[in-house]
Amino acid sequence: MSTVATDIQGAVADAAAHLYVWALKDIPQDLRDALAAARDRETSVPGKRVLEIIHRNIEVAERENNLVCQDTGIAVYTCRVGEHFPLHPANIYKALRDGTERATIEHPLRSNAVHTITRQNTGANIGYRLPIVHWEFISDWDGLDVKCVPKGSGSENMSFLKMCVPADGVNGIKRFVLESIVGAGGKPCPPGIVGIGIGGSADYALYLAKEAITRPVGTRNPDPVVAQLEEELYGLLNETGIGPMGLGGDVTVLQCHIEHADTHMTLNPVAVNYQCWAARRASVHIAADGGATFDRDF
Ligand code: SF4
Repeated sequence: MSTVATDIQGAVADAAAHLYVWALKDIPQDLRDALAAARDRETSVPGKRVLEIIHRNIEVAERENNLVCQDTGIAVYTCRVGEHFPLHPANIYKALRDGTERATIEHPLRSNAVHTITRQNTGANIGYRLPIVHWEFISDWDGLDVKCVPKGSGSENMSFLKMCVPADGVNGIKRFVLESIVGAGGKPCPPGIVGIGIGGSADYALYLAKEAITRPVGTRNPDPVVAQLEEELYGLLNETGIGPMGLGGDVTVLQCHIEHADTHMTLNPVAVNYQCWAARRASVHIAADGGATFDRDF
């Protein structure tokens, strides 16, 4: 029924507008805890100073009700849509786009979106195929979960893909991750979360790497083999000495998260997606009647 759909569409747009600004201003508690622990264990003087400044940055943003970083990123949404949710995904997309535009104009937020060739600004953080939305469809459910991850360019520019061959094995994966992060140095505003996608296909490995950065800091992959690799890489990455903002130190990454998929017997893709210290994310659950419950994770 169109009236219900219109009301629901408005509810999804309102939720998107709130999510985008909320994510930019109020970073999650698990990230705050990880940054505080990093500051406490960092032994290099410049590294510790950087972490203290990051800490003050978060406090000032909270006090002034302002953004934690000037880069409002591109809005990336992940939607889990129940099969009985009363709004078609095409209209969910329109609502997310409207909400992103409204948040950008009303706050106002910096508008980052440009045509990829002409570099002309395309509007209030919207454009052709912007915002970016990933979809998952859930049987026997009438709800909608939306996660918003504003992704800054400093960290998104440090994204890497390698089509390792099976003979490269796990050592090839580890080598590529280490080479990528050492090559990135201070550019992605470390210490952040290293997201790694393994398996699937080239495009899916990159998608999985992006999924990996959106997990709460320090959560482990349910597969114990993958969880062990997360632990090992977390340790190795912090031995590189890159340190906070690349100025040297003990804390190069806050965490290393891996998402994986089964793959072709002659494929071994590995993707890296970096998330900076301002690892912003926020979530909402929208019920079939349009009621919204905001939470960081679902
Ligand atoms: S990488 Fe992150 S912290 Fe650095 S400028 Fe971009 S959004 Fe801000």
